[in-house]
Amino acid sequence: MKIKSTLHGLTPYQPGKPMEEVKRELGLDEVVKLASNENPYGASDSVQAAIQEAVSSIAIYPDGGAAKLRQKVAELHNIDEQQIIFGNGSDEVILILCRALLSAGDSIVTATPTFPQYKHNAVIEGANVIEVPLVNGTHDLDAMYDAIDETTKIVFVCNPNNPSGTYVNEEAFMSFLKRVPKDVLVVSDEAYEEYVTAEDYPDTIPLIKNYDNLMVLRTFSKAYGIASLRVGYGVANASFIQGIEPGREPFNTNSIAQAAALAALDDQDFIADCKVKNKEELELFEAFCEDNGFPYYPSQTNFLLFSVNKPGGEVFDYLLRKGFIVRNGEALGFPSYVRVTLGTKEQNERIRSLLTDWL
Ligand code: PMP
Repeated sequence: MKIKSTLHGLTPYQPGKPMEEVKRELGLDEVVKLASNENPYGASDSVQAAIQEAVSSIAIYPDGGAAKLRQKVAELHNIDEQQIIFGNGSDEVILILCRALLSAGDSIVTATPTFPQYKHNAVIEGANVIEVPLVNGTHDLDAMYDAIDETTKIVFVCNPNNPSGTYVNEEAFMSFLKRVPKDVLVVSDEAYEEYVTAEDYPDTIPLIKNYDNLMVLRTFSKAYGIASLRVGYGVANASFIQGIEPGREPFNTNSIAQAAALAALDDQDFIADCKVKNKEELELFEAFCEDNGFPYYPSQTNFLLFSVNKPGGEVFDYLLRKGFIVRNGEALGFPSYVRVTLGTKEQNERIRSLLTDWL
């Protein structure tokens, strides 16, 4: 059998070491994973109840169009229901977009380092990937604009950016969006939007009515606390959504996930509370870096990319032996850094004291 040549040389995505593997390898009873930016407080209590109820109908295929969830998301953003495409995580929306827009010889423009799935999916479709280096950890939108040519089909703006946690402000985003040719799709991937506190962060969804070439990605995997259930969505103009829908699998979001996402959306107090706690923990962690002279990238997310002036791999190994799985910056394009998802107060304090004891 001959596998599509664009898959050659690609490795499966490795989103952090699995907890069970670490427990087994190191003989640890308890391991805390702070590697994939999930919500350390889990999900709203109402999510558990919604899941219990949805379990009773698992013999039946889910509603492929996710009608109830669609209605709720449309209300939340004050948009039409036809403007939304759901994915098995926003990962799948990225896949659908690449499948729908890219052929061999086309190209995408991304920042580097950024979320790796843009490149991964574009490469599978045979497209070229133009990677524009971050400047001070932030997208250089002028350079990204300059990288656009007649082959460009998609520009991915990861805002806030994973793995740096930094953001593009409204002024920079608008100046970019206005200039991008109308036949190039601008994707604003806002997986961490619920955590953003910067006042000049762009409010992109209302822009869609004036920009047919804008798509906004959101997810239920981060602040909403249901990463394992895999729900994310894209918002764009209705005719574009209609055009890419055939690239979506018919039952890509399951009924338990849909019910959980609906319940999660209903409890905005929970999200607001998580945002406050996250901000407090972020400030404590950033202050720890300041006090110790550790370089870090100011974050608008629930993770922090920082350096203790040692190779990321060494810090990763040390914390792993102590039962904390974080991300080694060497694999993220920041060799002397680690990316730590902010955990609960106790978890964060423990990591800081482990680092202090060690250094
Ligand atoms: N975009 C960004 C920037 C992310 O960090 C992630 C998750 N790590 C995703 C998209 C994918 O999230 P999901 O598929 O869980 O919705």
